Amino acid sequence: MALWRVCGFRRHPLIFAPVRVTSSSSYFSSELQRTRNMNVSPAHSVAAESSSSLISAAPPRKNSRWKPMCLYFTQGKCAKMDDEIHTERFSHNFSIAGKVESNASRSGNLRQQGLEFLLVLDLEGKVEILEFPVLLFDTKTMDVIDFFHRFVRPSKMSEQRISEYIEGKYGKFGVDRVWHDTAIPFREVIEQFEAWLGKNQLWQKDMGGCLSKAAFVTCGNWDLKTKVPQQCNVSKMKLPPYFLEWINLKDIYLNFYKQRASGMLSMMRELNIPPFGSHHLGIDDSKNIARVLQHMLNDGAYLQVTAKRSHACEEVKFLFKNRIR
Ligand SMILES: [Zn+2]
Repeated sequence: MALWRVCGFRRHPLIFAPVRVTSSSSYFSSELQRTRNMNVSPAHSVAAESSSSLISAAPPRKNSRWKPMCLYFTQGKCAKMDDEIHTERFSHNFSIAGKVESNASRSGNLRQQGLEFLLVLDLEGKVEILEFPVLLFDTKTMDVIDFFHRFVRPSKMSEQRISEYIEGKYGKFGVDRVWHDTAIPFREVIEQFEAWLGKNQLWQKDMGGCLSKAAFVTCGNWDLKTKVPQQCNVSKMKLPPYFLEWINLKDIYLNFYKQRASGMLSMMRELNIPPFGSHHLGIDDSKNIARVLQHMLNDGAYLQVTAKRSHACEEVKFLFKNRIR
């Protein structure tokens, strides 16, 4: 069965190249294989990111074929790591090393960063959070060194509404089955996330609950200004203190390059970084945001907190005068 992948980027015309699927696996639904290998996202054409390049993948260089992430692996639940067909088809590697050339290291512009680690976060879900992906980016090695990814089960919705919601949101990527197999309530996600932060020595409950050596990086303010506090309300939880400040990458981009970017795809276009995966699949988007971040650090950008509040109910203070509104 020949499937299709869209290759090319930016001003290049769309080129359709066949991708051969070797055999079927009961582990992933045939729909998942079909859609994830197809690797074209209908949601790519959202108005805010309007672009003529409706493309989500291009092999970066020889011998490094792009593969969709195994979404059981990202959640610590892949039981097929020793199955060659499975590991050939799905990526089990988070590294983004070697994808960009280092302008700064060539020109000597690399900045020493105040933060040792950055937590790239890109939530999905409008009514309630459906996906919570976080990549741990090391500012010294300039690579993703660990990750935390969970699909999130809404707490205030009927089963039928959840099914419709997931079909609409994830069905087009072919990952609705893995969502149903793995999604857990937000409260449990946060408990597991805190254990993961602790394991990486980024956070201790008895040390005031703020992050040490790290800050969240998001594309826009919505994730931490609006959505996480809303979800905490719905899930009847206190807003954890580590969510009180963050770095909006679009504000760093604006102040560093002196150019406005409406979103992730426009930053990628301007920096000539080919996007990979399915746009609006949170784990793929966070990996693409990490690529933008890596490129900006290589260009000599300095990452610092752009927004903070002292308490959950307090207004957010924005620390850059020049910012995206
Ligand atoms: Zn796997």
